[in-house]
Amino acid sequence: MSHNAMAGAATSLQIAATALDRAMQPWLRTNGSGPVAMRNVYPISVIHSKIWTAITIALNSGRQKQETMASTRTLHFIATFSLLIFAAAVVGSVCSDPSISSNIDILKVSSPSYGKEQDNYWSAGCGALKPSCILYPSTPEQMAEVVKVLASNNETFAIKSGGHNPNQGFASVSGGPLISTNKLNEVTFEKSSMTVRVGPGNRWEDVQKVLDNQGVVVVGGRIGNVGVGGLVLGGGMSFLSPQYGWAVNNVVEFEVVLANGTIVTASTSSHPNLYKALKAGGNNYGIVTAYTLVAHPQGQIWGGTVVFTADKADTLLAALRDFTEENPDEKASILMTAELTAFGAVDVWIVFLFYDGPTPPPGTFDAFIKTGPLINNCKKRSYYDYLSSNNFAVVKPAFYSLATEMTPVPNKTEAAEVLGTYHRHWRDSFEGVRHVPGLFATIAFIPVTKGLARKARSRGGDMIDLDDSVDRIMLEFAFSHWLPWDAPTMDAAMQRLYDGMRDLVMMHTDNGRLPQAYLPLYMNGAYFRQDYFGRLRTVDFAKRVRDVYDPEGLFAERTGGWKM
Ligand SMILES: Cc1cc2nc3c(=O)[nH]c(=O)nc-3n(C[C@H](O)[C@H](O)[C@H](O)COP(=O)(O)OP(=O)(O)OC[C@H]3O[C@@H](n4cnc5c(N)ncnc54)[C@H](O)[C@@H]3O)c2cc1C
Repeated sequence: MSHNAMAGAATSLQIAATALDRAMQPWLRTNGSGPVAMRNVYPISVIHSKIWTAITIALNSGRQKQETMASTRTLHFIATFSLLIFAAAVVGSVCSDPSISSNIDILKVSSPSYGKEQDNYWSAGCGALKPSCILYPSTPEQMAEVVKVLASNNETFAIKSGGHNPNQGFASVSGGPLISTNKLNEVTFEKSSMTVRVGPGNRWEDVQKVLDNQGVVVVGGRIGNVGVGGLVLGGGMSFLSPQYGWAVNNVVEFEVVLANGTIVTASTSSHPNLYKALKAGGNNYGIVTAYTLVAHPQGQIWGGTVVFTADKADTLLAALRDFTEENPDEKASILMTAELTAFGAVDVWIVFLFYDGPTPPPGTFDAFIKTGPLINNCKKRSYYDYLSSNNFAVVKPAFYSLATEMTPVPNKTEAAEVLGTYHRHWRDSFEGVRHVPGLFATIAFIPVTKGLARKARSRGGDMIDLDDSVDRIMLEFAFSHWLPWDAPTMDAAMQRLYDGMRDLVMMHTDNGRLPQAYLPLYMNGAYFRQDYFGRLRTVDFAKRVRDVYDPEGLFAERTGGWKM
């Protein structure tokens, strides 16, 4: 090998090494504060120093033994080795990374159980995405191992709990690893502290099945099949929310694996900003491996569903308004929905009624029950029984989309006009797509009372940060369809539906029919195109905390969800 060739090879190697060095800088930064300083850089920095040592040896060896075949081969070997290591460091997959311990179950695409896990989404659109593998960490330490490898490569990934979020890419992923929390399924009640430690791998019915026997309840989902992980991080509307606030106001501690792979406890006394930001902050701050929730004493409840024909709309909307503003009993809770399918095969109202006690005081739900339901299955039962019986609302398989809006409650005089326009707009949106096979449309009206806002604040507040200046009604819209190629049509229909609803709220506010109010979107009902954080007045705080705990953007840029 000539001097020139040798110098050229050395220069190329230097350039490659410099590029390698630059590419590794984000991982090598250790002189910051907070999480950056805590970053575990061991594997990458070791690789890096080994490459530099090899390069130095090669260059020295080259200088001493110019023109020898051995040095040429050494250089080729080192260059190739460097590139391979570089490629592995940057794009290596957590699915096959040797540093992932063999105790972590990993499903490959070829595994028979892979398909089963993919069927385990509410929306078929999420199940249709094909992750490169599915990992099942069963301890926080195993989760930390996974996160450390992710932090050292560039894979897109997803974190999945119950899989009920229908937005593609939020708890589902195509071509990257899916981290299932299934095996983090602890439910441990501690009587002395009246708390329950709950893993994100549970569904609400799993949790309540254990707790019913202990005479306690946690503030969680209203339908048993929904997952713990996503519901809590999105706020969590419960039948118990009028009494205790959002589910997330009842979290005493989060156990979290941060972007740098450290495991921390977030509570009022440990990482308090992280604790607050996680409350309706979604998956932006880390992977929660356990929630310590307040346990509330629980006996028999009264509840069920009442079904009405479509012609009862006006009476039911009036009853909804009055209940939201006037019901004095925080043990009483409702969720009112209207359901429509093509050709009017189904055109009904379904109202979920709940009372936290064996019998509601006379008059509590009269405005609904006296409207003359087709079906009324309300009765005294256990909390678990009610949650699991509500699973009838989880209909599969279909492609689903979900969106939301928030409105102040109109006064009695304006109620028929205001709520009527919302209801008509929803029906009109349905008409525009009624030809779509498998179409099922739902609108839910959910009271979000001043009382709930007060409870949320008195229990430490959250990112939603509701005030008690007005009573509100949360509106949620769901569409389903059967065929994947109808997705663009349904996407456009959903945008028209929620944009139109927002326009109506604004119009009624401008006309003085509704009071001015802070109207955040509710994360757990939001469509992927809706700007959840943009509607929060806490967004600056959310960003500041994100920058401290995820400075490299692992969760901000590499996994789906609402981002700031
Ligand atoms: C039939 C039905 C009923 C519903 N009922 C209610 C209700 O009563 N009250 C209510 O508030 N909402 C309700 N929802 C909305 C529901 O809360 C959201 O869809 C929520 O995201 C579902 O949680 P999951 O764990 O099943 O979701 P997943 O789809 O598994 O996850 C949702 C999001 O949370 C993230 N995530 C999940 N676990 C973790 C974790 N451990 N760490 C970090 N990020 C995580 C995921 O990455 C994803 O972005 C309902 C939805 C459906 C479909």
